[in-house]
Amino acid sequence: MEKTIAAIATGNAAGGIGVIRISGEKAIQIADKVFKAQDGSSLLSLKGYRAKFGNVVCKGEQLDNAVALVFRAPKSYTGEDVVELSVHGGIFIVERTLEAVLAAGAVPAQAGEFTKRAFLNGKMDLTQAESVADLISAQGEAAAKASFSALQGSLSNKINKVLNDLMDCSASMAAWVDYPDEEIDDLEDERLEQTLTDAGNALKDLINNYENGQAMVQGIDTAIVGRPNAGKSTLMNLLVGRDKSIVTKIEGTTRDIVEESVRLGTLVLHLSDTAGLRKSEDVVEAIGIERAYEKMKSATLVLPVFDSSRRLNNEDLKLIEICRDKKAVAIINKTDLKQKADIDMITSAFEKCVFISAKNSSSTKDIEIAVKELLGVFDFDASAPLLANQRQKQCCQRAMDCLFDAVSCLVMNVTRDAINVLVDDAINELLSLTGKKATVEVVNNIFSKFCVGK
Ligand code: GDP
Repeated sequence: MEKTIAAIATGNAAGGIGVIRISGEKAIQIADKVFKAQDGSSLLSLKGYRAKFGNVVCKGEQLDNAVALVFRAPKSYTGEDVVELSVHGGIFIVERTLEAVLAAGAVPAQAGEFTKRAFLNGKMDLTQAESVADLISAQGEAAAKASFSALQGSLSNKINKVLNDLMDCSASMAAWVDYPDEEIDDLEDERLEQTLTDAGNALKDLINNYENGQAMVQGIDTAIVGRPNAGKSTLMNLLVGRDKSIVTKIEGTTRDIVEESVRLGTLVLHLSDTAGLRKSEDVVEAIGIERAYEKMKSATLVLPVFDSSRRLNNEDLKLIEICRDKKAVAIINKTDLKQKADIDMITSAFEKCVFISAKNSSSTKDIEIAVKELLGVFDFDASAPLLANQRQKQCCQRAMDCLFDAVSCLVMNVTRDAINVLVDDAINELLSLTGKKATVEVVNNIFSKFCVGK
């Protein structure tokens, strides 16, 4: 018998209410020992989806008012009997209530154990379980939408559709292998090739959309770079919405990388404001400049800032060259001043340029539009099926490779049993993606990344 587990389900901070969640066969029995309903009734006789008002009692003393909410298996988050005790959300009260629950016979829940039980009890598949953790850590609209959509089963449904088609193929091929003397209809051959190709293409679409999905959901690692005084820190502060970086006329003010995550419309940018690019004898500044170049190389997106009121210098030209290999939106700054820079050199080198006066502007809309267009995420639909992590992507990749190999074998008239091995390998990859055939290590690894209480 699985042990009955308990944990604080709400955050580790004072709040309006704090919830202690108990799950397992003895959940109601244990809750009944620490909770006394005001009307004197016992939780043992309470139906599922019902709540009682009363008090939490700890070592014979009333600790706090509480509401006990009872869920009866299998109609609960975990699929087991669950009781949620809501008390006033002070850390002390919540912890004392948990202690009382543990003293009454529950054991502390491990990280992610409630959701792991939900998965093991068939309440959700592995992609949905992963989306629970993603939903909790979502920082922006796209992330929240994408993980909620996955929780609702958008990815599972897409994968299950592919799986069903492949299982049909596998079953007919197994039949052909069992009765080798039967003629194979040309039409059947064509149908098989089409089904395998369609399945491979469905997975290919998911894989191709992965990078964009990650950019929208996880946020975009973005480097703000440029020569000293171009207006990098002013731009950073404009995007952040407050004074994060120090702005002065003195060159070399920003010496190390200043980081901040910001929401830009539906985008999340993880910004790094870097040291101004120039030759410097100052050891500390030189290290900062080195770091700026490294950051530029590793960043997904670069925002090179150019001062339109000064002639382009060698550092600007070098920056233009480096940006050729990067996804970059040129920020042509100080448009309120007389233009001296050769703007054509910039506009001809970059797919996207934004003209701005960072000091006077309050709008960042043009930058948002340019970034979205450059990354191809303008019409990004976060509620479409999306792969959420490398594990899911790798399962899809391996399944897709098997399917396209199977199509090639079919075209070359390789025997059906060999083709069926490839199709079965693809099926197994997809079953491990949804968790129907995932190893214990994979499952444990996924849930170990959850927080306790989820
Ligand atoms: P950084 O060295 O590239 O980080 O440049 P800063 O953001 O520190 O800006 C250098 C100087 O340029 C500061 O005095 C800013 O106030 C000024 N500055 C920044 N953006 C603009 C702008 O759009 N117009 C004008 N006129 N001055 C600006």
